[in-house]
Amino acid sequence: MLPTPLKERLSHSIGPVLSTQALGGGCIHHAQRIDTHKGSYFFKWNQQNHLDNFEVEAKGLELLGKTKALQVPEVLAVVDVPPYAGLLMEFIDPGNRNIPFWEALGRGLAALHRHTQPTFGLDHNNYIGALPQSNTRHDRWGNFFIEERLLPQLNMPQARRYVTGELRKRFDRLFDALEGFFPDEPPALLHGDLWGGNLLASIEGLPVLIDPAVYYGHREAELAFMGLFDGHPDAFYSAYQEAYPVSSGWRERLDIYNLYPLLVHVNLFGQGYVASVERILKRF
Ligand code: ADP
Repeated sequence: MLPTPLKERLSHSIGPVLSTQALGGGCIHHAQRIDTHKGSYFFKWNQQNHLDNFEVEAKGLELLGKTKALQVPEVLAVVDVPPYAGLLMEFIDPGNRNIPFWEALGRGLAALHRHTQPTFGLDHNNYIGALPQSNTRHDRWGNFFIEERLLPQLNMPQARRYVTGELRKRFDRLFDALEGFFPDEPPALLHGDLWGGNLLASIEGLPVLIDPAVYYGHREAELAFMGLFDGHPDAFYSAYQEAYPVSSGWRERLDIYNLYPLLVHVNLFGQGYVASVERILKRF
């Protein structure tokens, strides 16, 4: 149920709320479709201590949107109504995922990854799922990856509990071995959390990105994470490669990038993901 103070606040922007419909699938917040005389909207909300999540999510969507590389929902308002906070945006009516969807995703993601800045990182920190994500800037990807991605996750409580002893030592050996491991590339604007749940299909059958954890990173990290839990048709990879080819041997490097999302999963969901981390480190 949408709390009354939020309903009243929304009616100032989009007119009286005619009906609401709870949407499943969200991991963290309440998510609702809101219908008014002006149209349909998507609204996610939570207790007010989540205001910062909504503010940086809005910033991330706006940064992605400005590139025009791929569609993102238009952000309409960040709402702060004690004891609640929320994020109001365009509602994406769902469509199908056929070959043109995957080709557009490949081309669009390549175009997004062409957006660059001089350093790896971002001018503000954000979140990966419910966890803080540090975007302190570095000149070299290897340093950024170790210091802003792997180490902060290794220092969080669940990882401290499960990634110990020999496994923790393997991480230190990995850090020493990463010099020269990653191909030199300009920092690329990444969505940062592009699993299947954060990829919608519009009514036109084209991709729409939601829930970003943006930063300028190594684009192989994005491709790696996309393949961690989901398979994508060849049409996606061919379109991406045609638009912005990746360096040879990239498939062999993917596991190393995925240590980051796997550690995030250890910290969010516990021990179940430790075996995958161990497998990667043993093979490397
Ligand atoms: P959370 O941040 O809690 O993980 P999500 O942003 O993933 O929540 O959204 C929850 C649900 O709402 C998902 O099923 C998602 O597909 C859907 N959704 C998210 N954004 C939109 C949107 N702009 N239009 C339509 N549906 C959306």
